[in-house]
Amino acid sequence: MPTRANPDSRGYFGQYGGKFIPETLMSALDKLESAYAEARADTDFQQQFKRLCRKYIGRPTPLYPAQQLSAEIGGAAILLKREDLAHTGAHKINNAVGQGLLAKRMGKKRIIAETGAGQHGVAAASACAMLGLECIAYMGEEDIRRQAPNVHRMKLMGTEVRPVSSGSRTLKDAINEAIRDWVSNVRNTYYLLGSVVGPHPYPMIVRDFQAIIGQETREQVLAAYHRLPDYLVACVGGGSNSIGLFHPFFSDKQVKFIGVEAAGRGLETGQHAAPLTSGEPGVLHGARSYLLTDDHGQIRETHSISAGLDYPGVGPEHSYYKDTERASYVAVTDNQALEGFRLLCHTEGIVPALEPAHAIYHAARLATDLPADRLIVVNLSGRGDKDLETVIKEAGMKL
Ligand SMILES: *Cc1c(COP(=O)(O)O)cnc(C)c1O
Repeated sequence: MPTRANPDSRGYFGQYGGKFIPETLMSALDKLESAYAEARADTDFQQQFKRLCRKYIGRPTPLYPAQQLSAEIGGAAILLKREDLAHTGAHKINNAVGQGLLAKRMGKKRIIAETGAGQHGVAAASACAMLGLECIAYMGEEDIRRQAPNVHRMKLMGTEVRPVSSGSRTLKDAINEAIRDWVSNVRNTYYLLGSVVGPHPYPMIVRDFQAIIGQETREQVLAAYHRLPDYLVACVGGGSNSIGLFHPFFSDKQVKFIGVEAAGRGLETGQHAAPLTSGEPGVLHGARSYLLTDDHGQIRETHSISAGLDYPGVGPEHSYYKDTERASYVAVTDNQALEGFRLLCHTEGIVPALEPAHAIYHAARLATDLPADRLIVVNLSGRGDKDLETVIKEAGMKL
């Protein structure tokens, strides 16, 4: 069991994390670190964040007992933390509003962000419009094609979407481009990162804003059941919705954490996005963590049916949880995720995003082997509107 819930002074969770960045960004990261330390200790700032969580995001999101789902599969009870009901339709808005407030406090008016599926881009666009900040979102050309509705939403909210044509034209290339912009415009620009990745202090900052998910879950489950849950299950892309749920339960050793990665077309095919389940430690986007690399140490192409999980790296805190066995990690294939997707649509009348559909599939498998008095909380990280085209056209799912 790990004993550290926070990174050390150099930004490491055990052997993972750190700041592997160009020299020109060092002072910007130092300033971000001290500005965040002040904001974290400032009750006014915390109250501003809590207020926007309530009035703008619509928090607290419900903890919904999925009784029809549980009746269908048998075994343990499954509770859904309904992040799909948060403003803009996913958990990403918690972090976007938090960092938007931080940027404002630091006097930065130009915000840059990267986006894959477009969910973080939409969340950043929304937070920036509301807070009166300029926003530029870098997005791979392939993702712009796959996620057209989110591109329109960003533009409607006044964000400039900059297409990225390098590499595989997806999320990792968009991050590279955002880092390049930050290096050239560091003086007036705030980089609003979308997950618990990147150099210290980003993984800690994003986690702290997303921890609202776990804090509410803890209160809600105690109020309804007078006990803590047995399992927390969440999908892992960069790792923010899962760490947000897990972190407030860190010291509750009886609560087991399970992170669900994307096994894509199957781990054995190599076409997946599961660095914790089948990767090696290395350095990407400013931090040391588990990664998917080829025999030459180059970053590998990844595949997942869900754009939000299609990333070759993962947040350093998860790598630490893995090595210390605080959490366990499994991988679920595209086809299994589609099964989870269909199961939730039919039993509960909820259309989940394809990312949490991975977690739903695993939780359903887990529940059947457990007695009825056990509680499993699944983070329903987002709603599925954005994925309908993929599910129906690309995956050919019968309706
Ligand atoms: C972006 C996204 C994810 C994956 O990102 P994490 O940082 O791992 O949470 C998962 N679910 C939804 C709905 C997303 O939009």
